Amino acid sequence: MNAETLSSSAVVSNRPTVVALLSGGLDSTIVVRLMLDQGLGVLALNFVSPFCTCSPRKNGGCSLAASVAKSLDVDLRVMVKGMDYLRIVKRPRFGYGRGLNPCIDCRIYMLLQAAAVMRETGAVCVVTGEVLGQRPMSQHRRALDLIERESGLAGRLLRPLSAHLLPPTIPELEGVIPRDRMLDLSGRSRSPQLAIAKERGVEVFGCPSGGCLLTDPVISRRLKDVFDRCPDWDERDARLATLGRHFRLHPGLKVILGRDAGENARLEQMAGPLPVVSFVDKPGPTAVLRGSHAENDLLVVGRLLRCYSPKTTGESVAVRLRCNGRETLWTAHDSAREDEVASWAI
Ligand code: SF4
Repeated sequence: MNAETLSSSAVVSNRPTVVALLSGGLDSTIVVRLMLDQGLGVLALNFVSPFCTCSPRKNGGCSLAASVAKSLDVDLRVMVKGMDYLRIVKRPRFGYGRGLNPCIDCRIYMLLQAAAVMRETGAVCVVTGEVLGQRPMSQHRRALDLIERESGLAGRLLRPLSAHLLPPTIPELEGVIPRDRMLDLSGRSRSPQLAIAKERGVEVFGCPSGGCLLTDPVISRRLKDVFDRCPDWDERDARLATLGRHFRLHPGLKVILGRDAGENARLEQMAGPLPVVSFVDKPGPTAVLRGSHAENDLLVVGRLLRCYSPKTTGESVAVRLRCNGRETLWTAHDSAREDEVASWAI
């Protein structure tokens, strides 16, 4: 876990401060607004991983959370979910949702970090945008209780949007946070939150239901392949799982192909020590190889590249592999067959 604080004024404020999980989505944004409206200081934490759909890359260079924090004038600490998180994704204690999303473990992971920040800064509690009954796996009552217990935040985890449906927290009992200003929302509808946003002048927030690629069946399948087939997997493999087209040619070799010029460039950047394959003097996809390859495998990779380069029909194409400053050249004479491609696709 790495953390970067974008500003520090609220941390040194004399007001009681809360630590808020801020994704930049509707719920967490209005919770921050609600806390500010009670005269509390807010230190926002934004957790990022390769699976966030609200990352700077997908939002014109600025994360949603950063935009929201700026619009609300609160400090933001960006928390990077690293290998410790990925190991949880591989083997969660409390299971998966509909994809490879380990929502209960994920919430506990984030709240454990938030609890540490709360203690470090002297904040009175951690607040989240969770709403009772909104998400089937992690926001029913038993899950909320389990998450609170496992994150070591008993009595110090406030869910302001559903506070009246849950036991009072310590700062509410002590009168530091006015319980009568908290809400009683439940269920999946976002209409009440949209009304609150309008009423409180909240204009900057992300998609109302947020986004996590771990719920995507395609990304989940690729990630499962990584966990099952790559004994030495690392963060690069997790990031690669979110990009391009993926093929497993045999148990020891995976090929990742860019779908456009942007993805080709990103694959080149992300490849590091992994072999990169492309045509020598023709446009076409860039491929990254993961695993071990023999000479025959390279012939297959060349044929696979040709399937996604319609302009190379009928001619022989020179192909090049680059790895650690060395090059290997060969010729792709034809394209892989449709049934072969289908059998390799992950
Ligand atoms: S949807 Fe993704 S980010 Fe959200 S709690 Fe589940 S695993 Fe974590």
